[in-house]
Amino acid sequence: MNLQPYIQDIPDFPKKDIIFKDITPLFKNQQAFQSAVEQLIAICPEPGSIDKVIGIESRGFIMGSIIANRLNAGFVPVRKQGKLPAEVISQKYDLEYGSAILEIHKDAIQEGERVLIHDDVLATGGTAKATQALIEKLGGTVVQFNFLIELVFLKGREGLNAPVGTLLTY
Ligand code: AMP
Repeated sequence: MNLQPYIQDIPDFPKKDIIFKDITPLFKNQQAFQSAVEQLIAICPEPGSIDKVIGIESRGFIMGSIIANRLNAGFVPVRKQGKLPAEVISQKYDLEYGSAILEIHKDAIQEGERVLIHDDVLATGGTAKATQALIEKLGGTVVQFNFLIELVFLKGREGLNAPVGTLLTY
């Protein structure tokens, strides 16, 4: 199933000259949502080969938790500063628009665990790269990144130190 019709371009959101890729039409449609799950699972490593799936706040949580379940892995949220309740480690990162700090619970990943990182959109790669840094600080290994959408012209994958899978490219 072609998922492209379910991605909505929103010009000038959240600020001028950004074309925001809105994935809510995809999640709203039962068949598109189910197909997106199956297409993502098809590009993932085998169930049992991943210990933890990381979902990046907040749109990465939706598919990230489903992927985790399908791969028989745990799910771990990476969130913006100040949102996680227990002890965290932090990493500063640059966005296509602005900069911020990402956090993960200190006990979320054990030394040597195999990790898959999921988010909705790969743009400049700053967010995904910071997430990889958090995983590696905790002793984990990033086995794969996957995204619903890759903005290829921003070359985000060049900064990522593991295989990258995406369903839709622009
Ligand atoms: P980046 O760090 O530049 O790769 O940005 C990735 C993060 O920002 C992801 O969590 C995306 O959800 C969001 N993002 C960046 N650019 C866009 C865009 N054009 N449309 C939708 N989300 C975006």
